[in-house]
Amino acid sequence: MSKYITTPIYYVNGEAHIGHAYTTFIADTVARYDRLKGEETFFLTGTDEHGQKIEESAEKAGKPTQEFADEISATFKNLWDEFGISYDKFIRTTDEEHKKGVQKAFEVMFAKVDIYKDFYEGHYCVSCETFFPETQLVDGEFCPDCGRSTNVVKEESYFFKLSKYEDKLLEHYAKNPDFIMPRSRANEVVNFVKSGLRDLSVTRTSFSWGVKMPESLHDDKHVMYVWLDALLNYITALGYGSDEKLMKYWPADVHFVGKDILRFHAIYWPAFLMSLDLELPKHIGAHGWWTRDGEKMSKSKGNVVSPKEVADAYGVENLRYFMLREVPFGQDGDFSQRAFIDRINSELSNDLGNLLNRIIGMSGKYSDFVIDSKDVAQYHTKEIEKMDAILDSLDTFMQNLQTHRYLEELWKLFAIGNGVIQEYEPWVKMKNNQKDEALATVAVVANILAKAAIMLHPVMPNTTNIIADALSFEITNTSYKELIVDKKLLKLFNIKKVPPLFPRVEEPLMQEAPKAEPKASKEEKKEVQATKTEDNLIEIGQFFETSLKIGIVIEAEEVPKSKKLLKLQIDLGEESPRQVVAGIKEFYTPDDLLNTQVCVVANLKPAKLMGMMSEGMLLAAKDEDGLCLIRPEKPKKAGTPIG
Ligand SMILES: [Zn+2]
Repeated sequence: MSKYITTPIYYVNGEAHIGHAYTTFIADTVARYDRLKGEETFFLTGTDEHGQKIEESAEKAGKPTQEFADEISATFKNLWDEFGISYDKFIRTTDEEHKKGVQKAFEVMFAKVDIYKDFYEGHYCVSCETFFPETQLVDGEFCPDCGRSTNVVKEESYFFKLSKYEDKLLEHYAKNPDFIMPRSRANEVVNFVKSGLRDLSVTRTSFSWGVKMPESLHDDKHVMYVWLDALLNYITALGYGSDEKLMKYWPADVHFVGKDILRFHAIYWPAFLMSLDLELPKHIGAHGWWTRDGEKMSKSKGNVVSPKEVADAYGVENLRYFMLREVPFGQDGDFSQRAFIDRINSELSNDLGNLLNRIIGMSGKYSDFVIDSKDVAQYHTKEIEKMDAILDSLDTFMQNLQTHRYLEELWKLFAIGNGVIQEYEPWVKMKNNQKDEALATVAVVANILAKAAIMLHPVMPNTTNIIADALSFEITNTSYKELIVDKKLLKLFNIKKVPPLFPRVEEPLMQEAPKAEPKASKEEKKEVQATKTEDNLIEIGQFFETSLKIGIVIEAEEVPKSKKLLKLQIDLGEESPRQVVAGIKEFYTPDDLLNTQVCVVANLKPAKLMGMMSEGMLLAAKDEDGLCLIRPEKPKKAGTPIG
């Protein structure tokens, strides 16, 4: 069976925001999930480039329309490439094949007399590219959607007989309760159709930046109206109207859309398809909006979240995890750095990252990084059963697009893994000559992690590949079949050391959104400033917010091309050493530092220096004679707190 997943085509009137990223992440996740299961999957995204608004924006930018569309379309494509989005095709509505396909569809509908010519008179909003009946206008003039002034337009237009499909649409919704997902969104669509559908104007003569009419109609002054043009991308991308090569993927399994364009996808699109005698998509998945810190995002507030900025600061896979975990599909979500950091620290770093570190640590100590699952069945049937039950439950959540529930359940595996270590205390068993039992515990935990990594793969592809690599296997459809479907264990395998996957984040890594400040009177402000300058003392608690520890330099090397930087691995008594990039090359050689003790600020937020992660800072004193490191007077154990 094949699968076909789509995002909407994004309108090239501005750059991608976090909502676009969310739609694309969830579609990418579902496509990757289907591929993991071995389905032949086609994943489509792209850009919507026609219409009066684009024509006008290009003019404002002083660019030819095509050039303008090319540039913005490229910003979307580049961003998705940078984010590793696994689309199979990036369609543009300015592609020749797409235009041909739209013309073909128009001819078919026209031949069926589902399209006819008439006059349209109405109040038209250029910005929304929509006609509004007089009753909907605000103060008789302004657009109910964007508030801009509308124009009265009377023009010749071709109409699609939407009214003809009212009953068929209602019948389809009734027979397919999951056509619109989540189901809670279906009512608004059903009610809209029940209130009566008017035929839809599908061409314009007031602008020219659109798909031309089919030649057979000999009617050059019309161009296609954007929704007809745009919606048809889902089949023209498969070759409809040209080579038809990929039409085997039709019908789509899920069209992901924002709730604002649900109506177009759940009413117009199925009606167009009925007219073309094509099957309807199986699901329209409508998601909600994203706010920032509880507030609506807008350019004027300056609080729009740029997905690129977030990904640069926190990592794109962490962002994918956060967005898919944070919000139930269909509901509005809120982006806040606080919530994001909490999930990184507690779920990614503590639950998942820690489990991997413990496996690396224990297998290294007990069995020279070799894990053998031979005794797992003897000692850990209970955990295996619990794990299998969770793994069996996951598919339903993904089929229902409930990514937050999927991840919530998946995370229970890490609780089992961490719990089993706590309960069986393999380090005690090692001391008591029960090595087989201790190694069985390490093995069951490693197997739990391996299976969890496979199921997390669609959400965090690169991170889970690193985990799989550490456990010496590959995440593929074959390993999915063996470990998940057939419930096998990894038998005898090596553990490789990897650097910590999720450094803890202590402080927001991006500037917070501007907030309306509570207004303090001028005098109050002066007072605050006066106390601050006179009194430069801090409370003891403020001092202890800094975690200072003794560290031992276990590796040191020069950073090529850098005059100042040395790259150090420092043992702080933790599961794995910390990498610290320090600006001390002018004063110390790597050999000066090897196996010496240093004082480290251990809870500094990680930073990237010349592309390398630095997870701490060395204490040093500097005057005109140079710099010296601060070191303990007597050697202390790695990780000894300073205070
Ligand atoms: Zn408007």
